[in-house]
Amino acid sequence: MKKTLILLALGAMSFVTGCEAGSTNSPAAMNNSTNSTMKFPLQRTEAEWRKILTPEQYHVLREAGTERPFTGKYWNTKEPGVYRCAACGEVLFKSDDKFDSGCGWPSFSEIAAQGKVIARDDSSFGMHRTEVLCANCGSHLGHVFDDGPAPTGQRYCINSVSIDFAKGTNAPTWKAEDKK
Ligand SMILES: [Zn+2]
Repeated sequence: MKKTLILLALGAMSFVTGCEAGSTNSPAAMNNSTNSTMKFPLQRTEAEWRKILTPEQYHVLREAGTERPFTGKYWNTKEPGVYRCAACGEVLFKSDDKFDSGCGWPSFSEIAAQGKVIARDDSSFGMHRTEVLCANCGSHLGHVFDDGPAPTGQRYCINSVSIDFAKGTNAPTWKAEDKK
């Protein structure tokens, strides 16, 4: 039993360190003037989030969970369109900036527009990473690393669960409120 637990723990560690690890000092970390008490434009109680989001979405978006690589909806999506925050509907990323990082999560070299996401230090799991949050609602999206393609050099490693794809360049407006 003990051996099984150790193996499980090792498995979990290698999963966490798999692709998301690697960076120690992303330039985006310079923006980390935020902390967990920061106020975001869209405020909801955790009870409200639980009502709006599926359990899986809640775990990733509100509890900073991570989906398993190569299991999400969008890691291999190549169609044109935009990716919105699954919690509040803000457009966060564009298909133009999506690239195949081979890591099993949707990866973007750029944000849809300046200020759409916020970066802050994340020291969980014994690693120093830079967490990426939706600037509108504060939901967890993933992490950003500085090993992305030129010219930005950034790799926004985002959970599929945290985003909703809207196909086409004239993507319809989509808000979490409309989903019910
Ligand atoms: Zn949001």
